[in-house]
Amino acid sequence: MTSKRARLDRFISKQANIPQREVQRLLAQGKVQLNHEVTRDGKQVINPFTHVMLADQILQDNTAYYLMLHKPPGTVSATKDATHPTVVELLPDDIYPDIHIAGRLDFNSSGLLLLTNDGQWSRFLASPESGIQKRYRVTVEKPLSQDHVSAFAEGMYFDYEGITTRPATLKIISPFEAEVLLREGRYHQIKRMFGRFQNRVVSLHRSGIGSLELDENLAPGESRPLSEQEVRQLEGD
Ligand code: URA
Repeated sequence: MTSKRARLDRFISKQANIPQREVQRLLAQGKVQLNHEVTRDGKQVINPFTHVMLADQILQDNTAYYLMLHKPPGTVSATKDATHPTVVELLPDDIYPDIHIAGRLDFNSSGLLLLTNDGQWSRFLASPESGIQKRYRVTVEKPLSQDHVSAFAEGMYFDYEGITTRPATLKIISPFEAEVLLREGRYHQIKRMFGRFQNRVVSLHRSGIGSLELDENLAPGESRPLSEQEVRQLEGD
């Protein structure tokens, strides 16, 4: 599915294969419906989930869906993988076409994973500009110290990307356990940050994203749809 927004008159012209002039005529005659209501404004912008009808012909009818999944360790955050089970294989039968993952977790990580067919929504969540906070429970091999806390807060330079990580919060819970709060999601970010201290991550679990907490009723491998309110709240985070 395309994640693009489009101007209504151009969309109709392309989908129905009719010239723009004819589209304007049909609009003026009240022959176009958006989400089951007549519109005469061809300039308005529609998204892939706007229901569009031209006379009695449906031009677009896609349902957006948004899911939370409790990712178990040992699964790949991908739709396909040649060797390992994927998180998408954990979903109930093939009822979610065009699904993709909004913010991956590593193979051995567990916790809250969001899946959707709405590209605009997942791009927003992933973008550093949205700055949505992600919360992780991390167990490490060596004892934690205030040096860890300061280094996370200051940010670390990542040579490969040529960036400095945003200030992150590390709260020590016990000598080997911490809560980490990030506002971005660089490749293997938490492991690499602890790696600066030669401190290996033993387990990593994402407990929350923005206003959303992993539903404690979901056993590892289980999923459920997000409510409309949960979807919109995340956009407002
Ligand atoms: N940081 C990591 O290193 N791994 C994850 O899965 C998530 C954040």
